[in-house]
Amino acid sequence: MGSGPEPGRRRKAQAPVPGYMKGRVGMQMKNKQIRVTLMLFIKIGLAILIGALALYNNSHSNSKKPTKAVETRIADGDTAVVTRIVDGDTIVVACRVDGDTIQEKVRFIGVDAPESVHPDASRNTALGKMASDFTKKHLLNKVIRIEFDVSKRDQYGRLLAYVWSGDTMFNEFLVEHGYAKVATFPPNVKYVERFTSAQKRAREANKGLWGHEVEGVALEPPPVKSPGGGTTSRYIGNVNSKVFHRKTCDKLPALANRTYYATRKEAISAGNKACGRCTP
Ligand SMILES: [Zn+2]
Repeated sequence: MGSGPEPGRRRKAQAPVPGYMKGRVGMQMKNKQIRVTLMLFIKIGLAILIGALALYNNSHSNSKKPTKAVETRIADGDTAVVTRIVDGDTIVVACRVDGDTIQEKVRFIGVDAPESVHPDASRNTALGKMASDFTKKHLLNKVIRIEFDVSKRDQYGRLLAYVWSGDTMFNEFLVEHGYAKVATFPPNVKYVERFTSAQKRAREANKGLWGHEVEGVALEPPPVKSPGGGTTSRYIGNVNSKVFHRKTCDKLPALANRTYYATRKEAISAGNKACGRCTP
């Protein structure tokens, strides 16, 4: 099998060496060179292997961070300080655990507030900004208590929690005031019934996104006297596009481009067309 080529190669290597002694020395030199080269290859190979292992370990431990499988060091019932408001239904908290400060982004379970910081700007609405302001007013820099349900993280790595401020569950409070709708994602369904009845009350009272008036918060800058002399403005017109909307529409113009009307008639006689989305 291997007997053929082996001696042939040896003879070839010996061939250019002229004398007997010289041949031996040459062979020894060649063997030494081969040994050195071999050792070098082994060393390089080992270095590559070690490097690859280190790289694999590193990427492996890093890739663990954003996955939902990771446990949080925050325990059920822990208190934390709200350090930042992301939007109406998402906050950042800082929690002291065994001498370390753990920062986590927390998404409220069971509710969905209108967008205010969505990368797609067209999805951000005036109501989204209001929901965000509402959460900020009540939670920023406050101490809250975290309550978990079945799954602790969502696909974005955010903690999923019920956020308690004293005896008030803020998730429910948001819905109660019309700043968020019920959004149920099994298996986190512990308080679904509380949320649904809060939403029913908010809807019946026309609060927040369900109606026109929000407790203690103006939906828009103080109503300018509308052209028809009305004092309450039920419709919002866009001075540029000449399209008018219900106040609850999610396509409201920027604050600077708004004009207010008390009635449909006023809006139409001012040369506006009704929005096709909210059909005022
Ligand atoms: Zn509209």
